[in-house]
Amino acid sequence: MTATADTDHFRRRLLEERKRVADAIDNIHAENPGSIGDETEELTFQDNHLGDVATATFDREMASTLEDNSTHLLAEIDAALARIDDGTFGTCERCGNPIGAERLEALPWATLCIEDKRKQERG
Ligand SMILES: [Zn+2]
Repeated sequence: MTATADTDHFRRRLLEERKRVADAIDNIHAENPGSIGDETEELTFQDNHLGDVATATFDREMASTLEDNSTHLLAEIDAALARIDDGTFGTCERCGNPIGAERLEALPWATLCIEDKRKQERG
């Protein structure tokens, strides 16, 4: 079976997300570290009252982690866009089954179906 995903829809989603991530990386560079609060959904801030030096170190590490994550995500988004172009978008890389629509909606750059993802996470 070929994937029947609505690729136009996902292409738009991916391009929007790509812009958001690219902007986030620009912000990290521009404000390093500064206020990066808007782009940190996946990171959990803890409201510790660290000393100034510790805070600066913490912020720098946070910005670095954020940049690593963002750069990684950008690569995944680009790969997903390439899969749309070559017609394999929405197909699990491991088992070749379609990736569920709900999963793609939540994570348009997903490369594995939920079952293989779980297997991968279990190691
Ligand atoms: Zn699979």
